[in-house]
Order: sequence, then C-alpha cells, then structure tokens
Amino acid sequence: MSLTVSLADRINALEESATLGMTKKARELAAQGHKVISLSVGEPDFKTPKHICDAAKKAIDDGFHGYSPVAGYPDLRKAIADKLKRDNNIEWGPENIVVSTGAKHTLANVIATLVNPGEEVLIFAPYWVSYSEMVKLAEGTTVILDGAFDNNFKVTPEQFEAAITPKTKLVMFASPNNPTGSVYTEAELRAIGAVVAKHPNVFIMADEIYEYINFTDEGHFSIGSIPEIKNQVITVNGVAKGHAMTGWRIGFMAAAKWIADGVEKLQGQVTSGTNSIAQKAAVVAFNGTLEEAEKMKVAYDRRRKLVVGLLREIPGFKVNMPDGAFYAFPDISYYFGKSDGITLIKDSDDFCMWLLDGAFVATVAGSSFGAPNCMRISTAASDEQLVEACERIKASVASLN
Ligand code: PMP
Ligand code: GLU
Repeated sequence: MSLTVSLADRINALEESATLGMTKKARELAAQGHKVISLSVGEPDFKTPKHICDAAKKAIDDGFHGYSPVAGYPDLRKAIADKLKRDNNIEWGPENIVVSTGAKHTLANVIATLVNPGEEVLIFAPYWVSYSEMVKLAEGTTVILDGAFDNNFKVTPEQFEAAITPKTKLVMFASPNNPTGSVYTEAELRAIGAVVAKHPNVFIMADEIYEYINFTDEGHFSIGSIPEIKNQVITVNGVAKGHAMTGWRIGFMAAAKWIADGVEKLQGQVTSGTNSIAQKAAVVAFNGTLEEAEKMKVAYDRRRKLVVGLLREIPGFKVNMPDGAFYAFPDISYYFGKSDGITLIKDSDDFCMWLLDGAFVATVAGSSFGAPNCMRISTAASDEQLVEACERIKASVASLN
C-alpha cells in the first residue's frame, strides 16, 4: 500500500543546512578511512577556557538541575546587560534580554516573532546559510542584497535604501561576516542606521557572534549603540565563537521589551529555558576575562594571512583578505566549465563536491551563502592542516582544463 501522508510542505521546502551537510559527508569519508581535512563547519578548534568549564562543574554540584526561567537566569541576563554596556555601548536592562539555545535559535526566534507571512526580510549577501531558510519557515519573503566582491562583499547604504518597500519588516546582516569575514565599519553602520531611522517600521537584526574575532584597528562597532534607532535594533550574540563554546548552545538577543516579551512567549511554548548548566558557565564567560579569546584571535589572524597567501598562489582564485571571523571566501568561478576529463565543474557545488571526493578537503559551496561564484574555507584548523589543504587544492585544480 502506498503512503498517502508526507512531511509538511514547510519541511519539504526547506534546504538541508549546507554547512552541516558537508560536515556530515566529510565525517562519513573519514569513517571509511580517508584522510579528510574538514574545513567545512565553522567552529573554533580550541577548547572552552578552563575557568568557564569549572563554573559548569560547580553548577552541577550546586544543584542547578531544574528548569530555568524561560528568558534565562537573572544573573545571566544581568551579566549580558553588563557585557553589552562594557563592550558594545548598548544600554539595555536584563528585562530586554532573552537567552536561547545558541545564536541560531535566537535568530529563528526573532524572525518567527516579528515576521508575518508575505512581509519582506532584506538579507545582506553573502549571508550565513540559515538566514534565508529561517525566513522561509516564518513564511516571510526574502529579498537578497548582494555585496560586491570589489566592496569587500559589503552592501552599501544606497543599495539598502533602494530595496526598502512598504512590506519591508526586517533587515539581517552579520559583522564580522560569515562567510566573507568582512567587517562593516562604524561609518558604514552609521550610514545604514541613518536609513533605518527614516523608516520607523523597519527593524534591523545585527548578528554579532564573531564580535571578538575582529582584526581591524577600528575594532567592533554595534549598530544597536546608535541612540536614534535603539528601539529598531535587535542585537544577537552568544558564546559559541569568541569563547569556543559551540556545543554549550547559549545565545541571546537584546531589544525593545515588547520584542523580548514576544520571543519569551514563543520560547515558553517551544523549548522552555535554555540548559541550566550552560547558562551558569555563560555567566562566567560574559563577566570574566577575555584573555583566552584574545589568544584565539591571534591564532586566527595568523591563519587567515597564511591561507589567503596560499590561496592567492592558486591560478584563477580571487581572494579578499577577511577582516574578521575565521573564513576565507575565494572566488573560484575561473574553474566553472572546466573538467578533469571525468567530472565537469559547472558551479561551486560541483567544485566543492569534486574537491571532497578527489582531494578529501571539505569546504562549503558559496551557492548556499548567496554567492555562487565562491567557496568557503574555514581557517579554524591547525596551521599544518591548512597548509596541507591548500596544497591539495592547488594540486587538484592543476588537472582541470
Ligand atoms: N550567526 C552566524 C553568522 C554564525 O556563523 C553562526 C554559526 N555558529 C551562528 C549565528 C549560530 O551560532 P550558535 O552556535 O550560537 O548557534
Ligand atoms: N556557524 C557555523 C558554520 O557556518 C556552524 C554550523 C551551522 O550551525 O551551520 O559553519
């Protein structure tokens, strides 16, 4: 008998996460015994600093075993409010903050809380894979704005302003950016903020998860610190990248209270409060020293220079120097239409799959980030692995004609 039921349309329409999909394939090949270098998932290769781990152990011993308040423990929300004031010049109280299961969960919560079916969400591209799919789940309409390669992949305020329509509800961007590593300057963010100020019904979600991995002299600037648009900005951040805590799953948003209340209401019905032990560890991460984060940044800085230098030696690759995060994002379109005699490389998906199958180097195709000419390489790996991966890529492309 044939099955007459199927998955919901919203799941059938959803793309699999390309970052996690490539990582799964890389793991499968490694399990078969291949020497895979996995530069697909964007994840620090460092361990969580000891003082944070100690706080988690203490939380277990102190009996934090029950459900936590939906929006997060009061001491964590206070620590986040203090961090926002200290690092970002953003003044919100604990009541404006909701803690969720990672920044990914936070982003999805905010979109579901604010966006009605048919309302437009402007996404600055290249963008992190999950943005467009989260908007799809909320039945919003994505409007992709392309940041040009020659403008370091950044969207201009003019482009942004021209895309606003009466249906525009939300704008989303990450700085430092995943996948490009680009950083919007204070001047650029103030110009974008000036556009937002002209449209009181438009909200802007600033994803600052790579805040501490910023190599510019100017450093990080938060658009949420601009007083005129304070009530229109939703600042999103977490512990995953700066503190090497990807598995702990703590993210947060800070925004006007009616938005925070909406997110809390949604979370109360869907997931409840976030993991209690991880929250107690996050208090220490937000209140504590950034010494370890600084050390990691030094390593990422060295590696971006190493990788970009090696990639620039590969014929046909065009590579910008990333100003933040831990990705290199070369334009590889020179190889589209070329073949090794067996496989024809039509696009970035073909290129990345061919590289994984032939050279056992896992990357992620730019197509999933709204940049079909590019490929993402995570530089969060050892220097030796990065050198070996670049050598394998260089040797592989030499066979393409
Ligand atoms: N935003 C961006 C730009 C990211 O790269 C990621 C990936 N970690 C996230 C959000 C999600 O972070 P988290 O691990 O805290 O869910
Ligand atoms: N942010 C990381 C990445 O882009 C983690 C994987 C994910 O959650 O998609 O690879």
